[in-house]
Amino acid sequence: MDVLVIGAGAVGLTTAISLAEAGLSVTIMTAALPSQTTSVAAGAVWGAVKVGPPDRVLGWGRTGLEVLSKLAAEPGTGVRMATGREVSRAPLEPYYWTSLLTDLRVCEESELPDGFTDGWRYTAPLATMPVYLEYLRARFERAGGVLEVAPVASLAGLAGLAPVVVNCSGAAAHDLVPDPAVVPVRGQVVIAANPGIEEFLISRDPEPPWIVYMFPHGDTILLGGTNDEGNWDTDPKPEIAERIVAGCAAIDPRLRGAEILGHRVGLRPWRPEVRLESEPLGDGLLWHNYGHGGAGISMAWGCAAEITRAVAG
Ligand SMILES: Cc1cc2nc3c(=O)[nH]c(=O)nc-3n(C[C@H](O)[C@H](O)[C@H](O)COP(=O)(O)OP(=O)(O)OC[C@H]3O[C@@H](n4cnc5c(N)ncnc54)[C@H](O)[C@@H]3O)c2cc1C
Repeated sequence: MDVLVIGAGAVGLTTAISLAEAGLSVTIMTAALPSQTTSVAAGAVWGAVKVGPPDRVLGWGRTGLEVLSKLAAEPGTGVRMATGREVSRAPLEPYYWTSLLTDLRVCEESELPDGFTDGWRYTAPLATMPVYLEYLRARFERAGGVLEVAPVASLAGLAGLAPVVVNCSGAAAHDLVPDPAVVPVRGQVVIAANPGIEEFLISRDPEPPWIVYMFPHGDTILLGGTNDEGNWDTDPKPEIAERIVAGCAAIDPRLRGAEILGHRVGLRPWRPEVRLESEPLGDGLLWHNYGHGGAGISMAWGCAAEITRAVAG
């Protein structure tokens, strides 16, 4: 084995694919299958929300945008190009990273939901995470990779198992590294039957920890959500789900009485800056690749490429 990757969320799988497709022999050890990770709860639209540092984020984001846009043109990846709006009842400034989007424009008044006064409209890759994670897993295995469900008790204990270990443990890095700079930002979402909504919508107005958004995925729609810092609880709360559905239905009345199909909770691995660097581990190297906050799906390909360049040359 050339490389041992810890974790099978979007970041671990993507890193493992990138290394395996560069010709290395890669094994993933993960505490949970991809379908039980934070990654499966994501919306998931390309963007750079709650992630840093800005200079590196722009590079990682550019790569993510390119790769995900290409995947959107391939059948079976779970990724498509989607158009949507980000709206507010107050003046709204685009984020710095929206400079990477080619069609971002201010909304006409007629394009805003009732009561909203500002917003912008853009097209970006949108992933249906259960499908996308399965695609990533299959692609990793096609490249010769092996995935083992086996929790790692200590990183130091992995010395000697492989010349390179890559730590993609998400929020669990808080205890595993340990790294107190990693804070979980709990996000709860509701999966409902889609009453015919085609565009995504994000409202920036609610007071934290609330946020209101809807991401259509064919017959279903993902409704959110929360940004609850420091909360490690992964059980969905019915009262939160109720408030999420009510918040979305207040903006798009087609969601009133929508059939609820499921609930998901994820812990965004927030850190002031993504930790993407290496340190010695026995005679080998330990790479860290965690702390992608609210943007791990979007940053994963850029971060993976950086590690692959360093490891495989
Ligand atoms: C509600 C919500 C909406 C989001 N929306 C978006 C979005 O629209 N766009 C976007 O880009 N991002 C979004 N995100 C953020 C994104 O989901 C995360 O940044 C991303 O999932 C982090 O991926 P990860 O692989 O680092 O972590 P995880 O998905 O948490 O994976 C960590 C992996 O490490 C494994 N692991 C942990 N500890 C150990 C151990 N001791 N031994 C072995 N394995 C271990 C776990 O089992 C898991 O497989 C959203 C997140 C949430 C919660």
